[in-house]
Formats: sequence, C-alpha cells, structure tokens
Amino acid sequence: TQLSSAQTTRSTCPYCGVGCGVLIEHDGKHITGVRGDPEHPANFGKLCIKGTTLHHTADPALLSARAQYPALRPTRDAAPQRVSWDVALDTAAARFADIISRHGPDAVAFYFAGQLLTEDYYVFNKLAKGLIGTNNFDTNSRLCMSSAVVGYKLSFGMDSVPCNYEDIDHADCLFITGANPAFAHPILFRRVEAARERRPGQKIIVVDPRRTDTSELADLHLAILPGTDVALYNGMLHLALKKGWVREDYIAAHTEGFDAMREIVRDYPPAHVAERCGIREQDLEQAAEWFATSPATLSMYCQGLNQSTQGAHKNAALINLHLATAQLGRPGAGPLSLTGQPNAMGGREVGGLSNLLPGHREVANPEHRAEVARLWGVPSLPATPGKSAVELFQALADGSVKAVWIGCTNPAQSMPDLGLIDAALKRAEFVVLQDAYRHTETAAYADLILPATTWGEKDGTVTNSERRISRVRTAVPPPGEARHDWAIGVAFAHRLGHRLGREDVDALFAYDRPETIWNEHRETTRGRDLDITGLSYPLLEAAPRQWPCPEGYSEGLPRLYSDGRFPTPSGRARFVATTWQNTAEQTNARYPLQLNTGRLRDQWHGMSRTGTVARLYSHESEPLLHIHPQDLASRQLHDGDWLQVHNPRGKVVVRARASTTVPPGQVFLPMHWGANAMAGLGINALTTAAFDPLSKQPELKHAAVQVEAL
Ligand code: SF4
Repeated sequence: TQLSSAQTTRSTCPYCGVGCGVLIEHDGKHITGVRGDPEHPANFGKLCIKGTTLHHTADPALLSARAQYPALRPTRDAAPQRVSWDVALDTAAARFADIISRHGPDAVAFYFAGQLLTEDYYVFNKLAKGLIGTNNFDTNSRLCMSSAVVGYKLSFGMDSVPCNYEDIDHADCLFITGANPAFAHPILFRRVEAARERRPGQKIIVVDPRRTDTSELADLHLAILPGTDVALYNGMLHLALKKGWVREDYIAAHTEGFDAMREIVRDYPPAHVAERCGIREQDLEQAAEWFATSPATLSMYCQGLNQSTQGAHKNAALINLHLATAQLGRPGAGPLSLTGQPNAMGGREVGGLSNLLPGHREVANPEHRAEVARLWGVPSLPATPGKSAVELFQALADGSVKAVWIGCTNPAQSMPDLGLIDAALKRAEFVVLQDAYRHTETAAYADLILPATTWGEKDGTVTNSERRISRVRTAVPPPGEARHDWAIGVAFAHRLGHRLGREDVDALFAYDRPETIWNEHRETTRGRDLDITGLSYPLLEAAPRQWPCPEGYSEGLPRLYSDGRFPTPSGRARFVATTWQNTAEQTNARYPLQLNTGRLRDQWHGMSRTGTVARLYSHESEPLLHIHPQDLASRQLHDGDWLQVHNPRGKVVVRARASTTVPPGQVFLPMHWGANAMAGLGINALTTAAFDPLSKQPELKHAAVQVEAL
C-alpha cells in the first residue's frame, strides 16, 4: 500500500494516549498542515485542538527552540558549546565507561519517556540491561501508568487493557473515575458525547473531587474527597452484595479470593462510606445500582487513580467491582484505563521500566532474565532491581548514582518535589540530555545536549490506550544535525561497548533502520501474552492493529477475557484485598488546603511543544490557582490577586481564580508550568515524591498547602 506521497504522510499524533491518526501535509521540506486520518480507528478523521495545531509547532520560525547540534558544557556554569557528534559521543562513552569501571554498572542510570517510539525505547532498554548490566532504566511512564499496570497484574495476572474504544458506543453505564477526558483525552470524550446522543438512556457517572467539563455531562457526579476512591469502590461492592446485585455464578466460575473481599467490605457500610467520601448516601446507592445492574458498564480512568500512594489498590478495587458484577468480557463492559502519553503502552511492551524486561517479562523472575539473555545473545542479565523514577533521582541526590542519561523528557519540570530533582541534577557527575528542544528546564543542568528528531521527522511505532499499534512516519528532514533517538542509542552503544571490552557489541546493536529493531522486538513477544509475531511493518502500513496478534494472524484481538479465562496460574481472575488508606500528606492547621494538580485542555506536559503555539495559550495563559470564594474571603483575598501557595517543600507565586469548581478546602493548579515560565522551580515544587509501594508511582495529585497574600 502506498501510504506517503509528496504532499501527505500518514502518521500518529504525538500527544495523548488516544493515539489519533493524522495526515501530515508537507512539501518535502516543511510541514504545512495537519488533518485527521479518516481511516484511523482511534479518531476516524477527528482531531482535538492540540492535534489540529501540530503543524504550527513545526513552523520554521520556531527553529531557534530546537536542539540542532550537539553541545558540551565544559563546566557547569559555562554556556553549552557546539561540538561534533564524534566528540559528543566519545565524551559520553568515556564518562560512562569511567564511572562504570570505578563504581560498577548501577552507578549510571537512564530516564526516558512515554513520548519515545517503541523502537527508540527498545534500543536504550537493551543498552542499559543487556550491554551495561544495570536495571536503572526508568521512564516518565512511572508517573503515568505504573499503578494501572500493577492493578491489571494483581487482578488479571497480566498487564492488559481488556477493552477498546468501541466499547464506549456499547456501554449502558459509563463510570468515569479519576479522569477528565474532556481535557486530557478530547477525542475519546467526543465519542462519549456522540454515544450519549445516540443512546439517551446511557447513564454517565463521573467521580472527581472537582467539577469539570467531563462532569457537566454526568447524570451523577460524585465529588469525593481526595484519595477516598478505594472507600468508594468498596462501599459500592458492599451495596452490590447487600442488594443481591453481584453475579455469584461468574464469581464462582471465573474468580478467586472473593470470600476475603466479602469480609473486608463488611466494614464499608453506606453511611460510613458516604461520610468518608464526602458524598450523599443516596448518590452512593445510585452509583452502585447503575454500575452493577446496567447491562454493560465501562469504567474509564486515569491519573486520579494512578498518581496516588494507593494507586495500585485503587485500580484493583475498581476491577474488583467489575469482577463481582461480571461487568467485563463483552461489548461495552470492563475496565478501560486511559494512557496519559502516546506510547506509555509501547514502552511497557519492550520492558521499558526498571522492573520489566521485553515481552512483559519481569526483572525479578530468573526464568525471564534467562529467556531475554538468550534472545539477546548475552551471558546473563542483572538481577539487582533497578531504580524507579523517584528512587533514581533520590540516588543521584545521595551520590549512589553518578551519571544519568535523560531522553525526551523534562524531569526538572515534571517530577514531583522539584527541590529534590534540583539537588539530584546538581550533584550528578554527568548529565546527558537527548531532546528535540534545547531550552527545557532540564537542559540547564545538562553537561551534554544531544539533538534528537521529533514528530514529523521520525519513523517507528506507538501503542495507544486500546492496545492498538500505529505507525509514525517521517514527513520532513530534521533540522541541523538532529538524529533519531534509536540511532543515538546505537552509536553510543558501539562506542561504550568497545571501551568496556565488549566484542559482541556490534552484533548486539546491528540496527540500520527502525524496522530491524521492530523485527527483533516482536520476536521477544513470541508466546507471551502480547504476542505480536504476526505484525510486520508491511501489515502495519495497511492499518493500525491491536495486540495480541501472533504469527499466522493478520488481525489482533479487540477484547480480552470474553471466555472468562485469565492468564493467572489458576486461570481465574483475582479479587485483591483492598482497604482504604489515607493520602500520604494530610492537611493541618499550617497547611489546611488540599492541592490537586492536572492538565489544561490545550497544553501538553511541560509545554516545550504546545507552549510555542499562540492559539493554544488563549485557553489559559498562566497558571491560575482555582480556589473556592470562601477560602479567598477567609484570607481577605480576591479573584485575580497575586498570592503565594506554599508548603515545606516549596513555594509558587500565582494569581487566584475564584471558582466553585473546587469545593472549600481544596485548590487546583495546572501542572504545565516550570521554572522557565514562572518564578521558582515551578508547580511541582509543591507536590510530594511519596509513592505507592507496589507501583512506585508518586502522589502527584495530592499535597497539603497554605495560600496567603504576597
Ligand atoms: Fe492528539 Fe490526543 Fe488530541 Fe487525539 S485526542 S488529536 S491523540 S492530543
């Protein structure tokens, strides 16, 4: 199939996990326009405002924001100076080899992103675990989806999204919890709106402490108190049991562990749960009834569940509800986690987290390590657990990790507790930043900046929230000397390998284009839950496809667990014993307000791309503190006043927006602003690095703060 012409190249949007197909219009040198791809099953031609303005982010007038040449900083306080790729890569290889020889492989680390393509991820993950011998490879997907991953594994035995976007059209009840798809996943939200129009009887329940554009569509909005999600889900299960709404036949045939859960939810009577969650008892009962008794209930959820010290159990408690009421395995029913980033899923497929190996294998499993060592042709893989995102920066701060290679992400803006990140990057002996943009907050700490290609310039694959793999394609050449991320990894691997005396390095990294990486990657999935040995680049050229899709098949599986069998040792899904625990930080007399952070509709992450488009700024051009009028009045403050928000970790100065979208006692800040766009370290100076012990995902969505006049 001919997919590209001189004027149009089919590709995928680089922003959120919806993974919309785009048609890039160009003249071979410059991108001139973007349209939705009418043939892509994620969006059928529609795009949100971020997608429709993508071509503006590639405007030649913005070239000065791009990293175009390698640059080395001779000392930390000197300006970066342009160097050749040879000098840059030799310097990096020499510094890494020196640190590894003096302190061992675990003294270096890699921190990458769910923005990367699967092929990029694969190369750097292999470089860390297969060549250097460290599991210190983590990504910003840790901040995004790791709690959902653990939730799926605990409940189903596998990191798998059982549903697909079409289920939105079939659902009789939509349970949207800890998510604001109207802002964060706009094209999916349009699908929700369209489904609602077609099926006026469809019930929509939204669970969110704030009133949002999503909750405006709801038949029932449960504005629970922050962090009380597990209490809510357990309370709904209590009611389902009491009213006879659970499906005992499904529980008996397809699950295990229900008796323990039945005991636990005895302690979640409606009056108690309603008080704990801050909602009305009749609303709790209504939600439980609609969830349990609708012919098909679909949950859609995101960071409200994931970014929590109880994130894994929030996910598992929600899946408990689906299992108890048999709401999965058929059209319109099941848990549909929404991926924040465009390729958080693809990263997991190649093992791109510190606890994972390719093909959904685990570092902690000796058989899995042996299998991957065999596939890669290396003697063994390291058993020492790698450091997750927060642990990695803590290790840089305490000096046990000495060098870090950061790719395609901006931790000095996006990590929690930016004071910690500042200390970590200052103490690091050597910081490499591989990025398409040269003025990010993290660039200020980098000893070496390597220019990378970005959307419109690179080639590979991504996996969206419904397990659908799409091609990303090159439309125009990159600026200056920017190189593809995978190619930077290959070039560095060769130089480092030779310095480390690894004669096998040339064979280990014999990649000449993304397709050769893809072919190796898919082989690592043979016989695994996500088997994609049937998917070739030529097949993906024709259309995006879902996994699993083993050899001999040309289409993936749209829905999992329809047969009631699960990939656990017993073949049964597991009820997870979930009990409610409070947030890591509670309010007190000094810090009496609960801070929530989240996305705006028209910005993306640290704004290095969306921040260049004036039209996107017209939505909200500064980080306003959304605060209830009562909380303003009690401080003698007014709408529009400048004020300071602070806690022991940090302080930000912003203006107030009096708003009843947040209840008294709670405030909200958009997450996008870092040190480059405001005084201080940025919004995340206030958030906590406390993380879930199971998923290691930090609690970015809750902190205790005080608000005062400047
Ligand atoms: Fe891009 Fe997400 Fe918008 Fe689709 S919904 S156009 S993937 S930002």
